[in-house]
Amino acid sequence: MSERLPVHVDPLILADRGRALSGTVPVSACKRLVHWLDSGEGEFAAELQFGRDENQRRVLTGRVRGRVMLTCQRCLGAYALDLDLPIGVVLVDSEAEAETLPEEVDALVVGNGATMHTVDMIEDDLILALPLIAKCPDASDCAPAVEVFDSERMSGQDAGTQRPFADLDDPGDADNS
Ligand SMILES: [Zn+2]
Repeated sequence: MSERLPVHVDPLILADRGRALSGTVPVSACKRLVHWLDSGEGEFAAELQFGRDENQRRVLTGRVRGRVMLTCQRCLGAYALDLDLPIGVVLVDSEAEAETLPEEVDALVVGNGATMHTVDMIEDDLILALPLIAKCPDASDCAPAVEVFDSERMSGQDAGTQRPFADLDDPGDADNS
């Protein structure tokens, strides 16, 4: 099996030395990402290359691959999504330096001389790769849980007292004036 990526690195020194890192990151280590997932199981395989681009800017390029479990918003079941993302960012010392870059360049602010969590370098890209609304890729396996819930509630004895759309009557009242 591959080794774990180091937890902390100094991206600017790695870029100056043209170093490459490869290894795995547990999905559960990506705390912000896990918030959007059905579970924290699995791991990512990352290949990260630090160096300089043709403009002598320090850059991080590479690739992150792995499988995450999402909660389908239709049937509320879990399903797997394979991610395979290119990584490509310019490493900068500060927000001020980031603002000097062309718009099409993605900047990653790293404190000068400071170490950084490896996860923080890839987690934003992973979060952005998630679908806005998670839905099973195969619709035939996906029975909408919301409709079942609604029909149960409507047949319940409280159905008559609940008028979630009562506000919709208001425009009619306005017409009378
Ligand atoms: Zn589903």
